[in-house]
Amino acid sequence: MHFAWLTVKAVAIFLGLATTAFCVSTIVLAVQNADLENDLQDALDKIDALTADTTSTSTTTITTPTQDPNRPTDDDGGTTPGGITTPGGITTPGGITTPGGETSPGGGTTASGATTPSGGSTSTSTAPIYPTLPTGLPDPDAIEWRLPTELRPIKYRLYYEPNLKTGECTGTISIQFQLNEVTNLIVLHSLDLNVHSISILNMMARMRVAVDSVTQDDTRQLLLIKLREVLSLNKAYTLSASFDCNLTSLTGSYISNYTDASGNVKSIMSTKFEPTYARLAFPCFDEPALKAQFTITVARPSGDEYHVLSNMPVDSEYVNGDLTEVTFQETVPMSTYLAAFVVSDFAYKSTIVEGSTIELRVYAPPAQVEKTQYALDTGAGVTAYYIDYFNTSYPLPKLDLVAIPDFVSGAMENWGLVTFRETALLYDEATSSSVNKQRVAIVVAHELAHQWFGNLVTMNWWSDLWLNEGFASFVEYKGVKHMHPDWDMDNQFVTEELHPVLTIDSTLASHPIVKSIQSPAEITEYFDTITYSKGAALVRMLENLVSEPKLKNATTRYLRRHIYSTATTDDYLTAIEEEEGLDFDVKLIMKTWTEQMGLPVVQVEKSGTTYRLTQKRFLANEDDYAAEAEASSFNYRWSIPITYTSSINTEVQSTIFNHNDNEVSITLTSEPTWIKFNKDQVGYYRVNYANEQWAALTSALKASRETFSTADRAHLLNDANTLAAAGQLDYAVALDLSTYLESEVDYVPWSVGTSSLATLRNLVYYTDLFSDFTTYALKLLTPIVERVTFTVGTDHLENRLRIKVLSSACSLGHASSLQQAVTLFNQWLASPETRPSPDVRDVVYYYGMQQVNTQVIWDQVWQLYLDESDAQEKLKLMNCLAAVRVPWLLQRYITWAADETKVRRQDYFTLLGYISTNPVGQSLVWDYVRENWEQLVARFGINERTLGRLIPTITARFSTQTKLEEMEQFFAKYPEAGAGTAARQQALEAVKANIKWLAVNKDKVGEWLASYVQQSSATNRIQ
Ligand SMILES: [Zn+2]
Repeated sequence: MHFAWLTVKAVAIFLGLATTAFCVSTIVLAVQNADLENDLQDALDKIDALTADTTSTSTTTITTPTQDPNRPTDDDGGTTPGGITTPGGITTPGGITTPGGETSPGGGTTASGATTPSGGSTSTSTAPIYPTLPTGLPDPDAIEWRLPTELRPIKYRLYYEPNLKTGECTGTISIQFQLNEVTNLIVLHSLDLNVHSISILNMMARMRVAVDSVTQDDTRQLLLIKLREVLSLNKAYTLSASFDCNLTSLTGSYISNYTDASGNVKSIMSTKFEPTYARLAFPCFDEPALKAQFTITVARPSGDEYHVLSNMPVDSEYVNGDLTEVTFQETVPMSTYLAAFVVSDFAYKSTIVEGSTIELRVYAPPAQVEKTQYALDTGAGVTAYYIDYFNTSYPLPKLDLVAIPDFVSGAMENWGLVTFRETALLYDEATSSSVNKQRVAIVVAHELAHQWFGNLVTMNWWSDLWLNEGFASFVEYKGVKHMHPDWDMDNQFVTEELHPVLTIDSTLASHPIVKSIQSPAEITEYFDTITYSKGAALVRMLENLVSEPKLKNATTRYLRRHIYSTATTDDYLTAIEEEEGLDFDVKLIMKTWTEQMGLPVVQVEKSGTTYRLTQKRFLANEDDYAAEAEASSFNYRWSIPITYTSSINTEVQSTIFNHNDNEVSITLTSEPTWIKFNKDQVGYYRVNYANEQWAALTSALKASRETFSTADRAHLLNDANTLAAAGQLDYAVALDLSTYLESEVDYVPWSVGTSSLATLRNLVYYTDLFSDFTTYALKLLTPIVERVTFTVGTDHLENRLRIKVLSSACSLGHASSLQQAVTLFNQWLASPETRPSPDVRDVVYYYGMQQVNTQVIWDQVWQLYLDESDAQEKLKLMNCLAAVRVPWLLQRYITWAADETKVRRQDYFTLLGYISTNPVGQSLVWDYVRENWEQLVARFGINERTLGRLIPTITARFSTQTKLEEMEQFFAKYPEAGAGTAARQQALEAVKANIKWLAVNKDKVGEWLASYVQQSSATNRIQ
């Protein structure tokens, strides 16, 4: 569509001012090509005629008794509209279907029928007489969080005019909607907007509907528009409004700044609407199931290389002086949280996705555009893979990925316009490590998966968020594996997703992945590890249960069945259930996992060739078994897909342990030397054996670690350590098993090994066990450290292994590694333009700073940090600065971190987390956060989930009653936790578990370590 000479802005504003008749004739020319506007035009013609008839009498004689001159929407319920919407006429169509039908004269649905009766005459008398409203209409006060279901938006037309210099923004919105049920109440979302000039048009009767009152409720984030009459079923209405907003936060629409190659600060504008932030940008029906089609127009500065991106390709541009109005093609039906637009001067690289006509573009600040190549290649390859995997074409004509300098989360899957943090999209061989590279691949693969799973088919409500996030977090591994078959992605899943979430899910503070949530704070809090990683782990288990082809096939069926619509967990499981040849109740099995929190531990008892399995909920803290657990419909029993291999049969065997069975027995043909359950840890459960069985597994591992896959080795290490820490296994058994690591050379098991060592190190850090512990840990680490050295190669997994084991060794004081780090650190600072290889840089920076430990060096690195423009490098330098052990330097760093010209708002909590992992910094951050809590809440908001999650990060290593009491006092002083409610609970549980660990295990672990150290030194002497 093209606008001949009148600007889009004028049209859009006019939608908001619809009844003001002064320039209807102008508008007529402007909107003649648009359907929506055509309707409006007719309505306005009619209004024009009416106001001409009634002249000024209507505006002077008809007033609303409750009129408040300060209310921005007064004119809607007040003078002029009242005069136009004279009694009878406008309400006629409604009268047909409402209980108050007797009040509707005319009854026709034509424009003339609706407007002719007596309009002029009554308007000159007193206030208009509106029909009596029927009883049983919705009560605005009864609405808690969810929108009433009477209305359904069809189309949005949005005009947006951001001012990149002032941070202010104006806009107009026109929403075409229909009714599911009769109502006189329009309720939509709006927050921190100044909404004015509201009007409601009945498109078929071509008349305006009288507004009784407009209320902005900031608590419920609602805009409530009460009408003087009921709206009709089967009619289309349009709500129009103008609004002002500001662009200063990192949610809704906001300004982000960056420094260009010449040192000039440039401003861009971006959006971030998920989950409940579209309402900060424009009034809307901000719930995922209320899908509609959007026509978006954004005014950008004319010149300075600025352009605008949105979900769809550009339809037209109109230069209007300093501003250029860019209108995009209408979207397919989609949820509000997926709308997006970016005003920037960014440059891009592009390619065509193989086997399609889709143009993929990756945008970045012009000086960084070369860093988009990796994401471009990955994005194109993964998109082609998903088109095949989902067996469904990508539904939009284009796909853009954009790096945004300020971004509150990792990335956002806006349909056709995916936005990222720079660290999650840009890759530079000179700067990025293998860890950075994998992060880019994973995040790109995750967001692109959402283009189908999430965008094309959306969860019906946020309580089923796991469907979106769990599935995307599962299939991202397939996408990356497709691009990098040598990255061992199948097994990396175990350490990257499964182990972290098993830890969180083993506490009473966990939650089921499907649960009832309502408020915006609950919704944002729900974007957590449980939803993402447990969701992904359950899909992985489900795939293994039904087979890969069946899961893929069912996923395609699900997508096609619910295309452009929404669905629930049950809908997805229905699609699975419809696969042929499944001889078990897949829905019932999965419900035991989705509807209750936690996970089971399967206890294996051997008797000859028979193994008897029992199950119970696994809790990390023994005391929690005595505590009262939240009720669960399956009483914390699960239907567990059991798999196993043994020394006599390495082919995977399987059975199902139903939740309502007390036990399962498995009998082998002969007695194996070892048996291992939960092959590759595909099942979401832990396994415990008698000590002899563990010893047999340890012997097999030590004899030849390759008897087991990397995932199985990771699993054995993780289960043994966790079960021991939970008091369910002798610590000696777990520590014995860990000694096989002396011969381990693979990344995935070492990822578990180093993290177990870090956990133990933190627990014994302030105890007299520390010396023996470091001897033990360094004995395990030394062979691998000597093997990998500081010399970096090209093997991705070996690069990941190197940084893990070198960091671990340095954290335990491994002398030669520390010395090497210091040497490389000093070399770098002598010539800062020559930096160490990205794949050892973190170790060199961190341990170099820790060992050198002077203000002069700190100040030098701080300056390098300030001058750095690469986001990944900036984070590495930020972590380097957190390593210093001089308290006042750390204190100053904490203070400087709050200055947004020095540390981006998005990085603030990351930085405080870095400082708190330094033993010297931990108490400084803890004190700072407690002393400045009110300011932090004022700056970020209590519903900012990253603020809430800072607490468990800081307190993770607390292990004394005193610290626990400090936490309890702090929480009691500020009882409102907002989106940090669960995080506080998790923090308390973790510290209680640490205290318990020391009380129960310190002596036993101490004995084992002492004996191990003695044996090793004896062995050394013999040698
Ligand atoms: Zn996601």
